[in-house]
Amino acid sequence: MELLERSARLGGKAGSDARDGRLVEHGYHVFPRWYPNVRRLVSEIGTELIDFDRYHYLSRGQFPRVVTVRGPSDLGAIWHNVRRGILPWYHTVLFFGFTLDMISRPLSDKRLLDRVSQIGLMRQAWYVTDEVAELNQENLLKASAIPAYDMSAMTAKKIGGFWLKEASPFLSVLPGDLQTTFIAPLEAKVREAGVRVRFGAEVARLDVDGGRVRSVTLTDGEVVTADAFVLAVPFEVARRFVDGPVFALDPSLGNMHQLEAQPMASLHVRLKKKLEGIPREHVFFHGGDYGLSFIDVAPLWERAPGDPPTELSFIASNYAPLKSLSTEDATKALLDEVRAYLPFADEDVHDVVLNSNVEVPLFINTIGAWPNRPEARTKIPNLYVAGDHAKNEVDLACMEGAVSASLAAARALLEDASLPELPGPESPRTWPRPLLVAGRVAMAPMLAVCTVVARIAGALRSERPTT
Ligand SMILES: Cc1cc2nc3c(=O)[nH]c(=O)nc-3n(C[C@H](O)[C@H](O)[C@H](O)COP(=O)(O)OP(=O)(O)OC[C@H]3O[C@@H](n4cnc5c(N)ncnc54)[C@H](O)[C@@H]3O)c2cc1C
Repeated sequence: MELLERSARLGGKAGSDARDGRLVEHGYHVFPRWYPNVRRLVSEIGTELIDFDRYHYLSRGQFPRVVTVRGPSDLGAIWHNVRRGILPWYHTVLFFGFTLDMISRPLSDKRLLDRVSQIGLMRQAWYVTDEVAELNQENLLKASAIPAYDMSAMTAKKIGGFWLKEASPFLSVLPGDLQTTFIAPLEAKVREAGVRVRFGAEVARLDVDGGRVRSVTLTDGEVVTADAFVLAVPFEVARRFVDGPVFALDPSLGNMHQLEAQPMASLHVRLKKKLEGIPREHVFFHGGDYGLSFIDVAPLWERAPGDPPTELSFIASNYAPLKSLSTEDATKALLDEVRAYLPFADEDVHDVVLNSNVEVPLFINTIGAWPNRPEARTKIPNLYVAGDHAKNEVDLACMEGAVSASLAAARALLEDASLPELPGPESPRTWPRPLLVAGRVAMAPMLAVCTVVARIAGALRSERPTT
């Protein structure tokens, strides 16, 4: 068995690259509780995750005062969020009511839900206020790089349902960089299993013969033959392989041209001084232009003596406006925004590294994407598709989606080759639907009260004289 990788390392977007003698994350990665397949891999390699039950919002100029949101693991956490949320309590209740409403919808709505944006679904709810819609938009963008007006309501429903069922720990992080604590041990397992890993092997095309893929041709002209092939590359690469002969065998693969991707950038800022007051967990900048969120990895990772005491790992979920800027100009724009939220001076900066990731954008679950995504088993008898864009139970472009789709592809391949069976991917759990519907019905009177309070509060605010 051979694994052909075009770059010099495994891991793809969930890895880190050597830059100036150290490893820099493609972007920080979180591991929610509801990642059964990824968590199984993590436990197989013996890596201990660090668990968090909360995240924080930071508003411009407010540091170190943050608003803390706890994962909805119990009534105490929900009550905390209602009392101390970023929005007044009545909007927070309406937000929670909408979440319950969305996730309690039947999956028979699947085709319809996939054609409605998450914000469109929200607008159908009689009780949703502008404040709730805006916060929802902000959260979704930061979590997924997808604007709420583009995100499939089906994807949002699924993810909300998984998170509500398994909210503790709300999310976890690795105890070190992605390459050292996750990808390198996984690579060792793959090699141990007898797989030959080849770096710098970039596939240029699939060679079709007699209704099957006979070989792949690499960019250096080498031809690699095999009995079966799994395409585990991003869709914007995979669709380039859909030429005339491939399309003739499976026209549905051409639908990958309908899929969309956006860059999700990361910015790494190391400071010479310790920035006191930074929470241990992730912090979202409330407002802002580039969808920035960060975590200080310095207290969490084992580090070398002399490493700077603050190491802020940022993600910019809204990088599109900076796409055509030089690295220097984009870094400056992002740093200007960071400095509006966090107090440090130019002379405090040890170094800054930007990964714009423009060349390797992230698949985004836009409205109507589902029918255009490839299945694990294609119509070409020895060709299988894996990766976060392939159809899978999780639906969102994330590590769990990629692993889930890859397990499905491996299972299909073994089945077709009459080889020993592999268990399929485990699905994340959700609450039984009748319970969710009962919760939604029980909340209806509360939503009515909160809507009235929100309207009165809104009217009073608009009557207040502005100075
Ligand atoms: C900034 C950022 C933050 C993220 N944060 C999270 C997070 O917190 N949690 C989470 O679960 N997910 C997160 N994700 C998403 C997650 O990283 C991806 O969904 C996942 O890594 C996708 O895996 P994949 O195998 O489908 O594709 P990729 O990771 O893109 O891997 C594809 C591989 O194929 C190789 N390749 C490409 N073309 C060729 C070719 N022609 N020949 C040979 N090899 C080729 C690439 O080099 C790469 O190694 C984040 C993504 C980004 C960009």
